[in-house]
Amino acid sequence: QKVEWAKLKDKPTVSADGHHVELAANIGTPNDVTGVLDNGGEAVGLYRTEFLYMGRDKLPSEKDQFNAYRTVLEKMEGKPVVVRTLDIGGDKELSYLKLPKEMNPFLGYRAVRLCLDQQDIFRTQLRALLRASVYGNLRIMFPMIATLDEFRQSKAILLEEKEKLKQEDIPVSDEIQLGIMVEIPSTAVLADQFAKEVDFFSIGTNDLIQYTMAADRMNERVSYLYQPYNPAIIRLVKIVIDAAHKEGRWVGMCGEMAGDSTAIPILLGLGLDEFSMSATSILPARTQISKLSQADMQKLAEQALQKSTAEEVVQLVEQFAGTQQ
Ligand code: PEP
Ligand code: MG
Repeated sequence: QKVEWAKLKDKPTVSADGHHVELAANIGTPNDVTGVLDNGGEAVGLYRTEFLYMGRDKLPSEKDQFNAYRTVLEKMEGKPVVVRTLDIGGDKELSYLKLPKEMNPFLGYRAVRLCLDQQDIFRTQLRALLRASVYGNLRIMFPMIATLDEFRQSKAILLEEKEKLKQEDIPVSDEIQLGIMVEIPSTAVLADQFAKEVDFFSIGTNDLIQYTMAADRMNERVSYLYQPYNPAIIRLVKIVIDAAHKEGRWVGMCGEMAGDSTAIPILLGLGLDEFSMSATSILPARTQISKLSQADMQKLAEQALQKSTAEEVVQLVEQFAGTQQ
């Protein structure tokens, strides 16, 4: 198997009937880039910047951040790098921010909500990103966007910082794509409206499943409700992809589901453009996709969308995989 995978390391990702998709990796630190390239990653689909802020006793400076972003962009040598702005809160705490305890941290003050409120933190990160943008192919993504207003505010702050840098004669790329995580159901439902304003979407299924099913992703006692294959989730993914494509935007997925061999046939059939996963899943996924016909997967996805339970969806995919052997 490993030999079969290795053959596809430097190859593009193409289905059996010639449909191209991009296989990207999720990373947490600049050191992870080596693993992405060694496993044939075509891009970084999610750089979780939280780790720059964690395990220390104060906020990282603009320079610390600039160095990290620049390193990742340079090591990727022009391949796309999607950097997610700070997504702290929920399960990830920063002791030095001294935030009050909340009843429902996953529904609380976190990610872009915190950044729009404590703008000095947000602006420092955005300046570091903008300054690093000339060293590679940077894409910026805002997490936990629940309303269009949050996206517009975040974009306006980014443009303000860009303008300030230009005034200071600091070079900034004009090619930076700007996107959002789709991980809150309200945003998936209104995807047609967001698609008019963003350059891309990345579906965060880890949170999208938790919020759609109202089942805490960390709570074992309700883990039976955490159902990636629930037809409700598949329908939301379809809404997002169709809305994006109607406006000529691309859609990625950076939750765990993107690298899951049971989900991949359905996601390919729904028209997902980019799959971002842990680096070690890339070559198995590329091998799997090379054996699937996208046209056939469209039919499979249509059937999945009509099922009423997660079990039925899994059965459908397993039956299909059985006929492929
Ligand atoms: C997600 O929610 O799917 C995601 C990729 O983000 P995180 O796991 O960091 O919340
Ligand atoms: Mg998330």
